[in-house]
Amino acid sequence: TNFWSGVPQGPPDPILGVTDAFKRDTSPNKVNLGVGAYRDENGKPYVLESVLKAEDILHQKKLDKEYLPITGANDFITLASELAYGKDSKPLQEGRIAVAQSISGTGALRIATGFLSQFYSGPKVLYLPDPTWGNHVPLAEGVGIKVQRYRYFDKKTVGLDFNGMKEDIKNAESGSIILLHACAQNPTGIDPTQEQWKELSELIKAKKHLALFDMAYQGFASGDIIRDAFAVRYFVEQGHQIILCQSFAKNLGLYAERAGTFSMITSSTDEKERILSQVKRVIRPLYSSPPVHGAQLVATILGTPELYEQWLTEVKKMADRIISMREKLYNLLVELKTPGEWGHIKSQIGMFSFTGISPEQVQALADHAHIYMTKDGRISMAGLNEHNIQYFAESLSKAVK
Ligand code: PLP
Repeated sequence: TNFWSGVPQGPPDPILGVTDAFKRDTSPNKVNLGVGAYRDENGKPYVLESVLKAEDILHQKKLDKEYLPITGANDFITLASELAYGKDSKPLQEGRIAVAQSISGTGALRIATGFLSQFYSGPKVLYLPDPTWGNHVPLAEGVGIKVQRYRYFDKKTVGLDFNGMKEDIKNAESGSIILLHACAQNPTGIDPTQEQWKELSELIKAKKHLALFDMAYQGFASGDIIRDAFAVRYFVEQGHQIILCQSFAKNLGLYAERAGTFSMITSSTDEKERILSQVKRVIRPLYSSPPVHGAQLVATILGTPELYEQWLTEVKKMADRIISMREKLYNLLVELKTPGEWGHIKSQIGMFSFTGISPEQVQALADHAHIYMTKDGRISMAGLNEHNIQYFAESLSKAVK
């Protein structure tokens, strides 16, 4: 018997498909702007010095490979929470944040949706920004949570549709779950201002919505870990019982190590314990317990003052290189008299820039210039460097003329 003849071919992953097309291209000029990972000045993957030093320290310690507890390594989750919430965070000091180590940011989101699908007493509807990171949809729908959208991107201004966003959040059924990108929104690179975050906090509170923060880029956005945590910390100060999904993939360059946390503000230590007991029951059948090495690297860096300082410098260096590419690209597009307004390239933040070009223009860039990006016109700024930026600007300019 053949059991599997009825399995249909699944659609290709839209982002990995870009990388495949790039790999097949034999042109020496080819540029891959699809990938969501940092690249150095020479277009190469980058391992942070602080990470290499932490590797040495761990190697010398000759640690064992015993299982971690279901919720992960205690030193890691404590240090990671301090980084996200700030050491002086009230709920942190009062011991009422339920935290579990997760398989990076994706795994944190999966714990969140798994927990919410079982225990959330409000409407099981997750509001996502339009557009958002593609994986958010199956992460919710896979566990029976309904997905809705709130307006986010304004095509006309290539900026934030703040009024549309507020209106949709206001019109959502009271108690809905609102997913917010803490900083460096993926894919648009457009974030609310601090004043806008304050308004959102009030609105979400008034509607008794639950705020679910996805923080995949702390420090990587502006180069400043405190500034990038503004929204999360402000909401917590304002008394929101937020859920936070934290990733160390980008800011520590630990993509494949899968280090992250899921956390939730609760109202008491007793409630925290009850929630953790159920979080463990979400995690256990998924993967039993998390991997140890990435968590040890993060804990070593965050817990060793000299490595921590070095990491702060390195994360700023990555952010600054991206910011300088934004400046340069903008200037080149203006110099080349490219039709349109390109100020958004400079004002957007984080790994990505939403160029605003059409799918046909994206295709033309791939076909004629060997430049690859996702269909929505999103480019990874990290894929640009001194060697290819002139070529990219000229090609983009040509494509829109
Ligand atoms: N959330 C957003 C918005 C992202 O852009 C990403 C990665 O691209 C993630 C979450 C999760 O990444 P990871 O699972 O590698 O931590």
